[in-house]
Amino acid sequence: MNRMNKYIVSNSLICGYCDDHIYSSHRHDLVTCKCGKSAVDGGQAYLRRIGDGTWTDTSIRMDESIVFACRDAIQWGTKNGKNELGTALAVLRALDEHNALVKDS
Ligand SMILES: [Zn+2]
Repeated sequence: MNRMNKYIVSNSLICGYCDDHIYSSHRHDLVTCKCGKSAVDGGQAYLRRIGDGTWTDTSIRMDESIVFACRDAIQWGTKNGKNELGTALAVLRALDEHNALVKDS
């Protein structure tokens, strides 16, 4: 079995009471929604939730190999003087190489 490590791309939820969409951007970033009934924490390090579970979790986790391939594509674009579109296309190719892209045929 080829088990991939998951990388937390987005640590977030939508509170079911106040509809606030909150994000934790780093390990010690505890963010509470507008009504105070839900909170997220942990950034890219861990998924911590505070509240009674009345929320829609909008977190994104991906195989870390995909995240690092995207990072490498951005580094390639920077190193080779590509503009934003050229770099974005490199990232999209990296996603495609990992079968992580929904695309038109
Ligand atoms: Zn709330």
